[in-house]
Amino acid sequence: MINEFDTIAAIATAVSNAGIGIIRISGGESMRILGEVFEPYNKKEVSLLESHRVYYGNIKDGETVIDECIVIIMKAPHSYTREDVVEIDCHGGVSVVYRVLNLVLKHGARPAEPGEFTKRAFLNGRIDLSQAEAVMDLIESRNELARRNSVAQLKGGLSDKIKKIREEVLYQVAYIESALDDPEHISLDGYGDTLYPRVEEWADETRKMLSSYDDGRYIAEGIRTCIVGKPNAGKSSFLNALLGEERAIVTEIAGTTRDTLEESVTIDGITLNIIDTAGIRDTEDTVEKIGVEKARREIENADIILYVADTSVPLSSEDFDILDQIRGRKKMFLLNKSDVSQAESNAGNTGEAGQSKAQRSGQSGEDQPKFRGNFEQAAACIREYAEEDEPVIAISAKYHQGIDDFITELKKMMFHGKIDANQEMYITNARHKKALDKALSSFQCVKESIENGMPEDFFTIDLMNAYEKLGLITGEAVEEDLVNEIFSRFCTGK
Ligand code: GDP
Repeated sequence: MINEFDTIAAIATAVSNAGIGIIRISGGESMRILGEVFEPYNKKEVSLLESHRVYYGNIKDGETVIDECIVIIMKAPHSYTREDVVEIDCHGGVSVVYRVLNLVLKHGARPAEPGEFTKRAFLNGRIDLSQAEAVMDLIESRNELARRNSVAQLKGGLSDKIKKIREEVLYQVAYIESALDDPEHISLDGYGDTLYPRVEEWADETRKMLSSYDDGRYIAEGIRTCIVGKPNAGKSSFLNALLGEERAIVTEIAGTTRDTLEESVTIDGITLNIIDTAGIRDTEDTVEKIGVEKARREIENADIILYVADTSVPLSSEDFDILDQIRGRKKMFLLNKSDVSQAESNAGNTGEAGQSKAQRSGQSGEDQPKFRGNFEQAAACIREYAEEDEPVIAISAKYHQGIDDFITELKKMMFHGKIDANQEMYITNARHKKALDKALSSFQCVKESIENGMPEDFFTIDLMNAYEKLGLITGEAVEEDLVNEIFSRFCTGK
């Protein structure tokens, strides 16, 4: 059933000087308006032009030619909105696209609200709400994995799962209700035993979707990554190595990274939103104090903490303070400046500060550990701090060594080593997560009612609750306000 709406128009492409700019029109008046502003080179009557064809001609305001363009006609219901849609591809200059848009508005279209084309696709039943949200996620996707996940959702990957559970739930509710209405013919004896495994299946499926949310959020929004370490440990250098360019300030003066600095970097399809914190340490400098405070907060909010140690000098109380602060958080340990120890090792440096315990006690011989100075000391110390599943990786930020190892370990840690948006649907939307959480607790309630031998009409109340909550995802049970709120976050012209 197609809703009747007025005809809307908007610039669908980015408004800047570009090769092409597209003005999109949707609604019952689209073809009339096109007829008034477009003159095809084949001189045909616009009303006779065929759907799903491309026509070349002039956009004209009266006798004035505004631009030479290509027009695409997609008649209802075979269009994005299921209404008559016309796209005018003109030259991409800012003044050209505005001039064409204004002409279309002058002939009776009204400016489209943000997301209004997609909203119509939803209201006219072409896509459901989770697919509409996938359209927005697709536009905003920041990496390849996020894009693939959005496309899977747009194709109905999530909707299909939800619809299947909802259909099965509704069938059971209908069965219970008919039995309650007609107890002589339909018996509910032992029905709880039949229903229980079904509810377990739905709960498992829901739980599975929920468990993908963290991975989904990391994919869609990026991993909130906090780099910590004492001043001069090489945090900025590591950030620069990741970014592949010199964007952060690299300096040898302690404490110059005064505030936190946020960068986003995508490597192997994983987006890291990196916060390079000020060196966390006690300081009297007011400006630096603010930065240090902020760094402490960032540690609390981070998805993962990267602790960078300077292994060219012995670990100090500053390191141990930081290590204490990050205890219990998800983290990786980066033993930086490993190139220094390597150089020392090659040169056979035997300076007192870098000597191993064996060397200081005067031992010597073939079985003595190869001299690695501070590196070995720092590594041993840090391994004691690291939990079993927390990687300790030797890197050289300066010479870009160990970055691959870091990425491999990061993937293992954040995505359990397997990220493949082709095979799994990740839940990326907080609204969907909330609905799934509620559906899951309703399923739990049904299970409890069965376990406690409650009457069957108790089952239906909770089953219907789960049914409705799942319906929120696909948009079958949403309030108009929520629909408006969701589409208002879209860009204009989509
Ligand atoms: P931050 O204060 O932790 O951000 O440290 P920086 O990144 O500013 O680095 C401090 C100093 O250590 C700079 O002189 C860097 O060039 C140097 N540095 C950083 N990483 C390495 C490394 O892997 N090897 C060596 N040899 N020097 C490094």
